[in-house]
Amino acid sequence: MSDTPDSAVHTYTRKHRAAFLDDLAEWLRIPSVSAQPEHDGDVRRSAEWLSKKLAETGFPVTEVWETPGAPAVFAEWPSQDPDAPVVLVYGHHDVQPAAREDGWNSDPFEPVIRDGRMYGRGAADDKGQVFFHTLGVRAHLAATGRTTPAVHLKLLVEGEEESGSPHFRALAEERAARLAADVVIVSDTGMWDENTPTVCTGMRGLAECEIELTGPAQDIHSGSFGGAVPNPATALARLVAALHDEDGRVAVPGFYDGVTELTETERELFAQLPFDEDTWLRTASSRATAGEAGYSTLERVWARPTAEVNGIGGGYQGAGSKTVIPSSAFVKLSFRLVAGQDPERVQEAVRAWAEARVPAGVGHRITFSPATRPCLTPLDHPALQAVARAMGRAFGTKILFTREGGSGPAADLQDVLGAPVLFLGISVPSDGWHGPDEKVELDLLLKGVETTAHLWGELATALR
Ligand SMILES: [Zn+2]
Repeated sequence: MSDTPDSAVHTYTRKHRAAFLDDLAEWLRIPSVSAQPEHDGDVRRSAEWLSKKLAETGFPVTEVWETPGAPAVFAEWPSQDPDAPVVLVYGHHDVQPAAREDGWNSDPFEPVIRDGRMYGRGAADDKGQVFFHTLGVRAHLAATGRTTPAVHLKLLVEGEEESGSPHFRALAEERAARLAADVVIVSDTGMWDENTPTVCTGMRGLAECEIELTGPAQDIHSGSFGGAVPNPATALARLVAALHDEDGRVAVPGFYDGVTELTETERELFAQLPFDEDTWLRTASSRATAGEAGYSTLERVWARPTAEVNGIGGGYQGAGSKTVIPSSAFVKLSFRLVAGQDPERVQEAVRAWAEARVPAGVGHRITFSPATRPCLTPLDHPALQAVARAMGRAFGTKILFTREGGSGPAADLQDVLGAPVLFLGISVPSDGWHGPDEKVELDLLLKGVETTAHLWGELATALR
């Protein structure tokens, strides 16, 4: 049998597997916990370790980029083809806190391999998924006989993702010229499950607000005054009750303006995923599903915007009773947004909707936190199709598509660089992100290597 590109990649990957896993284990031993100041030195050490390793991999440019917080790592490998598309890979080298007593079966910072899995903090989120790119690009060169990648390859690996990426947007803006790319590949997500390789096509955005309604200057007697003055808690409850209509749609006028609707193709592909509602309900610890009429559970979570009450309060909260009209009441709301929605316009719509419902004699204060934009790459985008083809070659099976209901800094890259964001992750739900015994499946990790080995050629062809 002749040595096809796919078998050459496979052979190369197997041959370098042991050294690759040793290197990853070495990186996982650095406890780069960005949330804990006592690990600041370790986060820096992690950045320097990665920068050195990327240089050994062959990246001609590797730099540690300072921020007001933890450092990021940037690397660049230009293609000899002048017309090659520019690809920016995003990941992060910081990790969540972890301690043996949280329920780990082994030291979180002393990685071990058990049953084909590597256990250690960061194994899946996100060091493992950053690291498959290193062997991937070498396999790409070895299998194609090239000396430079088929795309102009850039890597940006930040050090504050687990702390909310407080300086990421500013870093991206400041370094926009160096980061400029035709497409962004985010490797900080996962697949449906071990047997169902999928590509994620987008994430929801997020807008958060707090509404406080105020009545009397202090709590007053409900016998002396009750029935004759407005009660801010009642006004707030009416406001919250008006947030959704009978069909579970958000009743804020203008909220759905611009929403990118699901295509029939995407709905059909979502429906092919092996989704089991009972299992899903168990992971949600919920007794029933509920939401916008006309949409499946996955569609509701991935492709529809929402309004949720995250916290609500006001008035007497102690034991027994206290007969007062409270002086104030508050609610904390969050809105998950989908492609086509503009967070600033949503905020304006929410403000106008709330203000119109404040009764006479009740004061109000509405505050918004900085919003995160949604991002979505259409299914027929050539770069997305290239990712699916590369993954299909590595996994040898049909690739399906998901989205992510959460929100993340990837949208900042889409915003600042004006490039589509694609998500290439090989993690699975059982990997235990942020929890004890975080692990990565070694077979899937190696499939990640093979996927990226195919991806650069696929993208160069697709984006030519
Ligand atoms: Zn992550």
